[in-house]
Amino acid sequence: MNLQELYARAEAIAPWTVEQRRALHRIPETGFQEFKTQALICQTLDALGIPHAEERTWVVGTIRGGKPGPTVALRADMDALPITEPEGCPFRSEHEGWMHACGHDMHMAIQLAAAKLLSEMKDALCGTVRLLFQPAEETVGGAEPMVAAGAVEGVDAVYGLHVQPYMRVGQIDTMPGCLNASTDEINIDVRGVSGHAARPHLCVDAIVCAAQMISALQTVVSRSASPLMPAVLSLGTIHGGQAPNVVCDHVQISGTLRAADPDLRALLKRRVREVCEGVAAAFGATVEVEVVSGYSPLINTPAEAERVLRLGARLLGTENALTRTAPSMGGEDFSYFVEKVPGAFWHLGCSAALPAAGLHTRELVPDERCLPIGAAMQCALVLDRMGMLE
Ligand SMILES: [Zn+2]
Ligand SMILES: [Zn+2]
Repeated sequence: MNLQELYARAEAIAPWTVEQRRALHRIPETGFQEFKTQALICQTLDALGIPHAEERTWVVGTIRGGKPGPTVALRADMDALPITEPEGCPFRSEHEGWMHACGHDMHMAIQLAAAKLLSEMKDALCGTVRLLFQPAEETVGGAEPMVAAGAVEGVDAVYGLHVQPYMRVGQIDTMPGCLNASTDEINIDVRGVSGHAARPHLCVDAIVCAAQMISALQTVVSRSASPLMPAVLSLGTIHGGQAPNVVCDHVQISGTLRAADPDLRALLKRRVREVCEGVAAAFGATVEVEVVSGYSPLINTPAEAERVLRLGARLLGTENALTRTAPSMGGEDFSYFVEKVPGAFWHLGCSAALPAAGLHTRELVPDERCLPIGAAMQCALVLDRMGMLE
């Protein structure tokens, strides 16, 4: 099998793939509520004769090749977002208030197309393909519990992708090493002592303390992280106080801390705590800092990211297989799969023209012409890893 033939096959089934995508687009569901989505995937796998197992709302399909070889996993995320889709789309969401506005319908359709193509060549396959349909990427994370349940046990390599409207159809990108930052949530609870605003000397003003804390936190990234290492701390909420003439005794601040490196992530978490505690002590206030661990950073195995770029260059031309120079500071829980086994995550251009509306917007309209490219690439990664690609 060569790459061009693979792409021709993906093109030939493109109308089927589009049908799958549109059916999934109609039924967007939130994390761990993907029951209709799960049922539709199972139904499609049944029609393809691919055995599968379910737990919670995830699906794991298995294509056992006729010859021995590695086990290669493909992953597609399943969930949607609480966004109301505009009128006009002929396959508009039937779940009012919900929309596949992150393109996960595209990912599932690509994975089903890859499954169809790979199962058609099952007897010749040197190894096993594992199809991971993963819930809850946008919310609590479905990858971590899937890994805990053994989703990548015995897997030799794993590949996943995300459609990206910042690139045109026919372009892909990725990079070795960190592709997505960690995402930790920070909750800061500052406690002071309330009293009459005319007698602040008898109080501990939580607002003044919080103000200093917020300023001091700006130094966590700028003074504790190497300027060459991507990291960001953004505080998104602040609440406190009840009346203009009462000294406030309680301020709550929340934010997000992101880093592209596990060691840097640990250091910054520690610094946030130290800065908050130090400032609180200076003001006679108390503080509780809670760091809620989010997704770990997604670290691509260098050789597997290079495999993506090499195959991408062969399929789409070197000018269209782009090596990113910096990671995204957005989170992606594919990270849990590549923590366990070698693999790579990559981005698939999905825009007809640029600029285009971004992910997580109601205006997102991915161009379905990227579906066969995604399917051919995922199949090519499997076959190449099995040593079957010419
Ligand atoms: Zn998203
Ligand atoms: Zn997404």
